[in-house]
Amino acid sequence: MQTPSLIPFNVPYLAGPELEHVTQASKTGHLSGDGVYTKIATEELKRLTGARGVLLTTSCTHALEMAALLLSLAPGDEVIMPSFTFVSTANAFVLRGAVPVFVDSRPDTLNVDERQIEAALSPRTKAIVVMHYGGVACEMSAITAIAERHGLSVIEDNAHGLGATYRGQPLGTFGEMATQSFHETKNIHCGEGGALLINNDELWERAEILREKGTNRSQFFRGAIDKYTWVDLGSSYLPSDLLAAFLLGQLEQFESIQAQRHRIWTRYDTDLAKWAQRHGVDRPSIPSEAAHPAHLYYLLLPDVDRRQAFIAHMREYGVMAVFHYVPLHSSPAGRRFGRAASSCHVAEQSSQRLVRLPLYAGLTESDCERVIDAATSFRV
Ligand SMILES: *Cc1c(COP(=O)(O)O)cnc(C)c1O
Repeated sequence: MQTPSLIPFNVPYLAGPELEHVTQASKTGHLSGDGVYTKIATEELKRLTGARGVLLTTSCTHALEMAALLLSLAPGDEVIMPSFTFVSTANAFVLRGAVPVFVDSRPDTLNVDERQIEAALSPRTKAIVVMHYGGVACEMSAITAIAERHGLSVIEDNAHGLGATYRGQPLGTFGEMATQSFHETKNIHCGEGGALLINNDELWERAEILREKGTNRSQFFRGAIDKYTWVDLGSSYLPSDLLAAFLLGQLEQFESIQAQRHRIWTRYDTDLAKWAQRHGVDRPSIPSEAAHPAHLYYLLLPDVDRRQAFIAHMREYGVMAVFHYVPLHSSPAGRRFGRAASSCHVAEQSSQRLVRLPLYAGLTESDCERVIDAATSFRV
């Protein structure tokens, strides 16, 4: 028997217009950051997210670093965040000398458990960082109320949540700042890239300076000042205009990319429902307040042994299925630089039980069917 080709976990999608835009951008004579394509892509992102200000960055990691810089954290300041998230959420704040305080997840959405946040606060707490897992919104009403009560900033790591909403409001507009990722594994991408969304106008001027190596070069280019100089901390967080051109091609096709991803997500969820129920496998839980962006499709197997057996089984059927995250509170760096607010059982359990199925625009109907056939032939 001929072995069928492997269905990869992710294939970076080309929507169509990207390379033409890159070619045009290469002819403008301005290939560094903040050229004409950066301007257009930024406007598209502003329209899509409804954020007050948008700055393209070289990654979501760098946008998080900018957010940490803009909070002017002092060593020893504490930042609340979920344990169940990607390392960049924590790293950005640790780089400023701040201490991440890890909070457990809700068992349904795997988002930070808002009911455990207040018990994790201390006099040194400065901010709450949320991450909308799979782009399914955190309980933002409760979280923004806690932040207001205690005078804390809210930052959204919205790497998964472009185009998603909570009670009709776009994710990325709840926090003082929010970050997006355009890494090739995200819904839209330019290989590597990101954006910082700024919803507090008072942060805007300093954000432009941080992103331009600590200089007031952006004001200089707008003609607001007659020479530019070093005025603050900063680094080089601008992506090349060639990457912005690529990203613009993806942004133009956002709706069709999203339609393809939703088609696959919904098909998995529908066709796996019966099998999952029969075998004690949990599917994603989407609260009625949240409209999600089909960023990822996951299953929760009963335990780590059966999760590993499921991954091996899928592999035998030619399907790459993967898991994440090692809970940050239990990772070597998390233990060194941060602390857990309480035991993080849900994060630990999720990390052991979770498996993600291939999901990318361009995954064909027949491949989708192969993934479903492979999964449903697994006996828990
Ligand atoms: C992908 C991701 C990041 C990092 O994004 P980069 O653009 O690769 O830096 C940060 N946080 C979360 C939750 C992510 O999924």
